[in-house]
Amino acid sequence: MLYHALGKTGLNVSRLCFGGLTIGPLQSNRPLAEGAAVIRSALDAGVNFIDTAELYGTYPYIRQAISGRKHDVIIASKSYAYTYDDMRQSVETACKEIDRDYIDLFLLHEQTSRMTLKGHADALAYLCDAKQQGIIRAVGVSTHTIDVVKAAALMEDIDVIHPIINCKGIGITDGTAEEMLAAIALAAIDCGKGIYAMKALGGGHLNSMAQEAFAWILAQQGISSIAVGMQTIDEVILNTSIFSGQEPDKQLWNKVSNVPRKLLIEDWCIGCGECAAHCPMKALTITNDKAHVDSAACVLCGYCGAYCPEFCLKII
Ligand code: SF4
Ligand code: SF4
Repeated sequence: MLYHALGKTGLNVSRLCFGGLTIGPLQSNRPLAEGAAVIRSALDAGVNFIDTAELYGTYPYIRQAISGRKHDVIIASKSYAYTYDDMRQSVETACKEIDRDYIDLFLLHEQTSRMTLKGHADALAYLCDAKQQGIIRAVGVSTHTIDVVKAAALMEDIDVIHPIINCKGIGITDGTAEEMLAAIALAAIDCGKGIYAMKALGGGHLNSMAQEAFAWILAQQGISSIAVGMQTIDEVILNTSIFSGQEPDKQLWNKVSNVPRKLLIEDWCIGCGECAAHCPMKALTITNDKAHVDSAACVLCGYCGAYCPEFCLKII
């Protein structure tokens, strides 16, 4: 496994970051011991970086996975909180549930524009104070937009940016992959921000060309690490071998890359619209009192599932 400096944070992160979303309740919902074993297999293979978020519900998996080695692992989490006190609560919850007295990176979750960034000024103020106090080590933002990458690049308080980027530009809401790469170069090379990418496989849309998609992102300048969601130990074995520059096992490759994924909407949907209101890709619409998904727009993030009062949504 290779390791890169994450901007000026002083953290050396593995090129492969364990994307924690996929094992939790919004996606595969693995039993606790099984999900923790998947994370642990990645740590055993040299991964030292785990990405999660308050929304994902995966702190218990991480707590169990890092037991006995908890200070050797770099953990990033995120929250939608926009007030000072709510962000403090989010950070305290993460520390308590993961059982650590600090979290390495804490991010403003899913910032959609520079206006949204301004609206989170109080939450950002808390993160800066927490950094001063050693409760977190670096402050960041996650985003699907080029606009936020450019804005955050110029913000002194932001150390790390977690943007969506893949070879087809899937999920970037305001431009192309080339434009996002230019914004990443501005942030990383000109402004010294640490960059770790998300959705290198377009949320599953690029699974059939995963080797090519990984090769593309690993060749890009300025990206220190790439968060990849993994649900099984087979996926961990494959991804750690690719990120270590080894040829993946062909049989395992065919088994993993040919599993189609989709958003399942159960029949008992009542058409309340909560999911559509929270979908970052605007991939959901309500027609005839039922939710419908535009599969081409959906990046299979599973975020909508967190807002459904009827528990009708899951990624399968
Ligand atoms: S939130 Fe759930 S119940 Fe409401 S429209 Fe969406 S899928 Fe249906
Ligand atoms: S419909 Fe939207 S929120 Fe739900 S999984 Fe797809 S992109 Fe994510």
